[in-house]
Amino acid sequence: MNKDITQQIIAPTGYFDLTNPEQSKILEFQQEILELIVLGNNYKEICEKICLLIEQLLDNAVASVMLLDKGKQCMNVFAAPSIPAECVTRLNGLRPGPEAGSCGNAVFRQEAVFIESTLDDPRWQSIREIAIDFNILSCWSMPVRSKGGECIGSFALSSFEHRLPSVFHRKLLQVGSFIIGIALEQQKMNEQLHLSSKVFENSPEAIMIADENRVIISINKALNIITGFSAEEIVGKPTSIVTSIRHSTKFFQKIWGSVKQSGHWQGEVWNRHKFGREYPAWLTITSVPNNNGSSCYYLINFSNITDKKKSDEIIWRQANYDSLTGLPNRNMFYDRLSHDIRNVSRTGALLAVLFIDLDRFKEVNDSFGHSVGDALLIEAAKRLSGCVRETDTVARLGGDEFTIILNGLTDQNCAERIIQLILLELTKPFYLNAKLAYVTASIGVTFFPADAGSTEILMKNADQAMYAAKNNGRNCCSYFTSSMRKATEIRSRIAYELRHALREQQLFLMYQPIVNLTTGYIHKAEALIRWQHPERGTIYPIEFISIAEESSLIAEIGDWVFKQAVNQVAAWQANYNTNFQISINKSPKQFISKMSDWVDHLHQKKLKGQSIIVEITENLLLDIHELVVKQLLSFRDAGVQVAIDDFGTGYSSLSYLKKFDIDYLKIDQSFISNLDSKSNDRILCEAVITMAHRLGMKVVAEGVETNSQKQLLIAMGCDYGQGYFFSKPLSAENFEAFLQQTP
Ligand code: C2E
Ligand code: MG
Ligand code: MG
Repeated sequence: MNKDITQQIIAPTGYFDLTNPEQSKILEFQQEILELIVLGNNYKEICEKICLLIEQLLDNAVASVMLLDKGKQCMNVFAAPSIPAECVTRLNGLRPGPEAGSCGNAVFRQEAVFIESTLDDPRWQSIREIAIDFNILSCWSMPVRSKGGECIGSFALSSFEHRLPSVFHRKLLQVGSFIIGIALEQQKMNEQLHLSSKVFENSPEAIMIADENRVIISINKALNIITGFSAEEIVGKPTSIVTSIRHSTKFFQKIWGSVKQSGHWQGEVWNRHKFGREYPAWLTITSVPNNNGSSCYYLINFSNITDKKKSDEIIWRQANYDSLTGLPNRNMFYDRLSHDIRNVSRTGALLAVLFIDLDRFKEVNDSFGHSVGDALLIEAAKRLSGCVRETDTVARLGGDEFTIILNGLTDQNCAERIIQLILLELTKPFYLNAKLAYVTASIGVTFFPADAGSTEILMKNADQAMYAAKNNGRNCCSYFTSSMRKATEIRSRIAYELRHALREQQLFLMYQPIVNLTTGYIHKAEALIRWQHPERGTIYPIEFISIAEESSLIAEIGDWVFKQAVNQVAAWQANYNTNFQISINKSPKQFISKMSDWVDHLHQKKLKGQSIIVEITENLLLDIHELVVKQLLSFRDAGVQVAIDDFGTGYSSLSYLKKFDIDYLKIDQSFISNLDSKSNDRILCEAVITMAHRLGMKVVAEGVETNSQKQLLIAMGCDYGQGYFFSKPLSAENFEAFLQQTP
C-alpha cells in the first residue's frame, strides 16, 4: 500500500510545471500527512489536519471533506475544522447533482469542479443561499476516490473571494484528495480487521490457525480454556496435539484428504485436554488459501460437546424410558417389538407378548398414598425383570400396565413356565416404606406369528386376553383365543353398522315409567335406547353403547336421544302433566367430547330445565374433568336435574354428592333383587335412603320386580320405583296407553 501511495504522489502529472518552492511545499504537505497516517491518528482527525494544512497554503479559504452516504445517496461533512457548525448543518444531506454546488457536482460528475463565482454559477443553483449566508464566493472541489476508483466523497477549498486554482492549488487538492481516499480506505480495513480479531478472540469456540504444514500459528482464548494449552505452549506445535490418540492415523488421513479435496471437513472427534482427559468435540477444518494462492492456511475450530451429548442422552432416555421404573416405555417397547418380530421371522422361532395389569393396584395407591404406590411399581418392575432373560424386554406402558416380549421361544409351552413364575413373584408381599401391600396380576398372552403379524394387533390381542384374565377372577393368565378374535370382529362389525344406524333411523327410544311410591303417580319416565337392526332384530344398549363410546359416535347418538326425549316430554307435558320429566342416560364420554348445547336447546323449545333429568354414573365424578364440572354447573343453573345411576356399583364417595347438587340416587337393581332375602342389601338400601334424604336427595329404586320389593321400599321411605313390576320399557304409544290406566 505504501508503495502505491508514493508512486502516485511522487509522479502526478503536472508536477514539474510547479516552481521549486511550490514543489517543496507540496512535498512538505505530503510529508506531514503521511506522518499523521503513520502515527496512527484517527481518520477524522487526519482529515481535519489535512484541511488545516491546506488552509495554511491558501489564504482566505477553508477546506472541507464531504463523504457520500451510498445508501441514502447524499453527502455529509466529515471534516471541516474551519467551517462554522451552522454551515456544516446546512451542507449535510446534500444530494449530488448538477446544481448541488462544487462538491455535489464533483461527486455527480466524478471529476474536479472549479467554480469561480458561486453567486451566479448555475452549478450552485440549489445551495446558493449557503454561499450568500457564509460568504463563500468561489469553491474548488475534487472527488475523493477509493482504491478501486469509486467516488466516495469530495475534498474542497472554499474561498471568501472569487478565484480559480493555479496549477499549484490543483496539485494540492489532488494530493489531498488522494491521500484522504487512501486514509479512509485504510480506516475501513482497520475496522474490519479489528472486528475480525475481536470475533476470533471472543468466540466461544476454540479456534486455531495452522500453516500448510499443520503447525499452529495462532489460537484464541477459548482454545486455551478448552484444551488447557496456553499460546506459548501450543504455537509452533502440530495441530494433532489437541486430538485423542484413540483415533487411528487413517482416520485423520481421511479428514485431511477431504480438506484437501473440498476445502472443508466437519464432524465429531475425540479431543484430548493438556492433562489427558478426553472429550467429544465438534470439529470444523477450513482451508484458507493465501493471497496469491500458492499455499494455504487452515482455520480449525471446535467446541467441547460433552454437555450437549449428555442432554441429548437425557432427552433420548426421556423419550424411550419410563422415569419411575427405568424400564423401556411404550415407544421403546414398540421399537423392540417390531425389531424382534423381524428377527423371529428370519429364524422361524416364536415370540410371546404378555400384557400385565396389576390387580387392586388402585387400592394400594388410594389407601397408602402415591409414594407407596410408586415404590410398589418400582419393586414390581424389578420382579418382572428378574423373571425373564436378558434378551427379553420388560416395559411399562403407564399406570400399573406392563408388557413383556418373550423372544426366541421354540413352542408356546415355553411361555407358560415364565408366566407362572411372574404370577408367583407378584403374589409375594411387597414391603414398602414400612407398609405391607399385596397385589396380584392379570396377564394376557398372545403369540407371533400364530395370533397376529403386526405389533398393533399383537398388542390388541394381549390387551384383550388380559381383560379375559380379569374377568376370570384375576391373578391368572389368559391366552388370546379365536373366540376373542371373533368377539373383536363382532365389535368392529357393530361399530361399522352403528354408523349407518343413526342415518337410517334404526335407533328408537323406549320409555320406562318411574312411579311415585307414595302416590302411585307416574310423572317421570326413563328413555332407553334400542336399535332396530334389519337382520338381527332389536339390539339392546348393552351390546352397542360401549362400542359407540370408543368413537365419537356416542356424542352424536347422545344428542339424538336428547332431542327425541325433549320432543316427547314437550308432548307429554302438554297432554298429560305439565311437570312431566324424562330421564336420559349420558355417558362420561359425552361429557368429555364437547360442551353440550342441551340447555340452549331446551330454551329454544320453551321448556323448563326441570323437564329433563340427566342420569350419570358415580365414576364420572371421581376423576373430575373441567368440562364435566362446567356442564354439571350449567345443568344446575338451568334447573336440569341430575341423577346418579346404578348407585352402589361404582366407587362410592359421599362427598361429591353434595358438591355437585345431585337430585336423585338410583339404587342399582342388584341391591333391589336381594331385598326379600336376609342379605345385607336391605340394610344397605335403608342406609342409602336415609343418607340421601339427609343430603336433600330423592331415591329411585331400580329393577323393582315384585310387589314385596315395592312394599319393602315403601316401608323404607324410598321415593320412587322403576322396574318390571310396574312396567317394562314401552314405546311412546304404549306408554301413553299405560298412563291412561294409572292415576
Ligand atoms: P340403566 O340406565 O340402569 O337402565 C336401566 C336398565 O335396567 C334398562 O336396561 C332397563 O330395561 C332395565 N330394567 C328396568 N327394569 C328392570 C327390572 O325390573 N329388571 C331387570 N332385570 N331389568 C330392568 P336397558 O334398556 O337394556 O339399558 C341398559 C343400560 O344401557 C342402561 O342402564 C343405561 O346405562 C344404558 N343406556 C340405555 N339407553 C341409553 C342412552 O340413550 N344413552 C346411554 N349413554 N346409555 C344408555
Ligand atoms: Mg339409567
Ligand atoms: Mg341403572
